[in-house]
Amino acid sequence: MNSSLIGKIEKAKRYAEERHRLRFTSLTVEFQGENSSHQVNLEDGRWRCSCDFFAGRGLCSHTMALERILDGMLPKEAMVQP
Ligand SMILES: [Zn+2]
Repeated sequence: MNSSLIGKIEKAKRYAEERHRLRFTSLTVEFQGENSSHQVNLEDGRWRCSCDFFAGRGLCSHTMALERILDGMLPKEAMVQP
């Protein structure tokens, strides 16, 4: 392995520990819930989810779970959970 690739791998390891460097601007996830799977999207800082609860409330267990998983890597307008 050449030395420049070794340097990049070392940098990648360091970056992977520095979550604050990342900001998700869009995202699509298939979320396997307890009863069925749902499609969750983040676009322009706004969540969408295909579940019924989201349709009524604009947030749901799936979007709130993703907020926790992606803590520190979301635009502030996507942090909507109470
Ligand atoms: Zn949902």
